[in-house]
Amino acid sequence: MKNIGIVGATGSIGVQATEIIHKYPDAFNVKFLSCHNNINELLSQISILKPEYAVVTGEKAVSGGVTDTKILYGMNALTTLISEISGELDLVLSSAVGFAGIMPTYTALKNGVNVALANKESIVAAGKTMIQTAEKTNTSIMPVDSEHSAIYQCLKGHGNNFIDKVVLTASGGPFRYRPSDSMDYVDIGETLKHPNWNMGNKITVDSATMMNKGLELIEAHYLFDISPDKLDVFIHPQSIFHSIVSFIDGSNLAQIGLPDMKAPISYALGFPDRLNWGAERLTPQILNGLTFFKPDKKKYPCFAIALDVLKEGKNSLMITMNAANEVAVDTFLRGLIKFTDIHRVIGNTLELFESRDISSIDEIISLDNVVREKAKKISQNIGR
Ligand code: NDP
Ligand code: MG
Repeated sequence: MKNIGIVGATGSIGVQATEIIHKYPDAFNVKFLSCHNNINELLSQISILKPEYAVVTGEKAVSGGVTDTKILYGMNALTTLISEISGELDLVLSSAVGFAGIMPTYTALKNGVNVALANKESIVAAGKTMIQTAEKTNTSIMPVDSEHSAIYQCLKGHGNNFIDKVVLTASGGPFRYRPSDSMDYVDIGETLKHPNWNMGNKITVDSATMMNKGLELIEAHYLFDISPDKLDVFIHPQSIFHSIVSFIDGSNLAQIGLPDMKAPISYALGFPDRLNWGAERLTPQILNGLTFFKPDKKKYPCFAIALDVLKEGKNSLMITMNAANEVAVDTFLRGLIKFTDIHRVIGNTLELFESRDISSIDEIISLDNVVREKAKKISQNIGR
């Protein structure tokens, strides 16, 4: 029996995780669930999974109807809860969206609780600190991101000194076949129609700009200690190959499967067991006609920015890029800037900040705050 807590239980990843957990009442005991504002979904999960605690980190309040679950409010309450009950927790699924996931992720690791990590933004901003904290407390970070779950599975039993190259695959998002000179005219509706995956809005926009793949390269760099020159990206529209690891002896391992996030989520939750959660089976014919091609950096300027930031290697720039991206995506989703302004906001913001390494979580959070203010002003000016 694993005692588990879910941060961001009401999101796309969180809901799929709760569906898997519900199928395995003997394998999981839910200690807590958190949501930001989606009280209705939280209440429905409480009635099914009966957690000891539920935390609302946003503004809304639960009114009545809950008896055995203790309801808490605010991000501080969530991190305090994680540290207070850390001795009773086996796993925290970190599946809030954005930089907001940093404190629950860090608190779990610091208190010796293993983390199943969907929240890639916390590793992008604080990769070294997270890894060092996990090493100190002897805890593991199990990736939920499909590419990183694939790499993790391919690397089992192999030291990363034997790696020649790691290829992360990318769907290319909804605009993969669209000519680059027409990108100025894409709208919010088209951007949110991802061809392969059904995900939250922020990551769906990140997939369309391919910033998502940039964040994932940084995530892979930290999680697996792989140098940037050994990381590569191919667009693979069918999303069957989730990543490929090439070894120095010319052998290649890939993890393949139909595109369904329940596969990597169930792997991270069940590890070292595999859960029969009802996956559609892959038949070999599906491999006929699969395609792979290199992304065009001109068409995906956000991806090009992330490559530069990764090469530079300092996390002040990673924090800056991530925060500016969150602001730009939010401003785009509110209809205030164009799709092609997203990279302008990020590029213009990056110009204002210096390149250095920051390890203290407090300093990382304060830089994130400063960057957001600058990026908001830049977005407003661009949107005028
Ligand atoms: P969603 O937007 O669907 O869900 C986000 C979750 O975070 C919700 O539970 C939401 O609560 C909560 N949340 C939102 N804002 C805050 C905040 N400020 N503080 C605390 N909690 C907050 O996101 P996804 O599930 O799509 O993505 C979650 C993470 O997983 C992201 O980092 C994403 O990059 C990563 N990921 C997602 C994949 C996917 O298939 N969706 C694939 C790979 C990685 P509420 O519902 O109440 O608003
Ligand atoms: Mg991914």
